[in-house]
Amino acid sequence: MDYIFLDMEWNQPSGKSNTVTEPVPLHGEIIRIGAVKVNEKMQETDRFHCCVIPKYYKKMNSFVGKVTGLSGASISFGQKFPLAYSQFTDWCGDDCIILTWGSEDEKMMDANLAVHDMDVSHPRFYDLQQIFAHRIIGTGKQYSLQAAVEHYELSWDLKAHDALNDAVYCSRIGLSMDFSRYIGEYEDMLREAEEQRQEKYFSTYQNVGSPSEAMNSRRITLCSCPKCRRIMSRKKWAFCGETTAISLCSCKTHGEYYVRLKMKKCPDGSYSVTKKYARLNEEYKEFYLRSADKQEVGSGV
Ligand SMILES: [Zn+2]
Repeated sequence: MDYIFLDMEWNQPSGKSNTVTEPVPLHGEIIRIGAVKVNEKMQETDRFHCCVIPKYYKKMNSFVGKVTGLSGASISFGQKFPLAYSQFTDWCGDDCIILTWGSEDEKMMDANLAVHDMDVSHPRFYDLQQIFAHRIIGTGKQYSLQAAVEHYELSWDLKAHDALNDAVYCSRIGLSMDFSRYIGEYEDMLREAEEQRQEKYFSTYQNVGSPSEAMNSRRITLCSCPKCRRIMSRKKWAFCGETTAISLCSCKTHGEYYVRLKMKKCPDGSYSVTKKYARLNEEYKEFYLRSADKQEVGSGV
């Protein structure tokens, strides 16, 4: 089996009125396909690049032009989509999976296949951006390609927002994280990610008199587990500025969390307080310990 790291660029309609809506809404029309092939031994074996002539959005969208650096004239040459797509799938071969940074490329591919009335079945797509966030960093956040490149201290030496270059970056990130071990447990990861999204990570409290009132309120400072709502054990609060307090807490069943209280002054003079939990990772832990340390030295609390 081969692994295909894919990135595409697409042109956008200039406005709502000329957006194709049938048979599906077409928010972008693919104009570049770039891909890197990696074999099971984790060696890069080939690269693919193709220019696609748009059928519906022939005029370069100024925003897309700015981001990609592509001129209006540059989208008037290449292959029509059906041919470009068949060249791409021929190049992919029969046994492959596709990896992309984010989930947009797959949606775009499906919509483009649909408007061309083509078979929408294609090799399975895996979202490397989600794997990176959930399995490497341990959050549900979205990281840019550049942020991941920097995380692995890889060189950012190719012009970004070019389909092939972004596919190359994507493959470098994938190879740095030994991506194939996460493919087998991808379904588990998606399920966990969905469960995490449904956990209660935020609480908001209104009409609080002052930051010190907030810090003395049991209701506000009590930390319950986002998963099971049981009260967690908590370290002492550390302050980052006067209106933000952070701490670490722990549920016996569900593990450790980072918690942050943020107090915001409202126009009527009262404060609103948001309490936010995140799964504890090294970054949060270090940040808390540093903040707690500073406080010991600074204020003698
Ligand atoms: Zn719990």
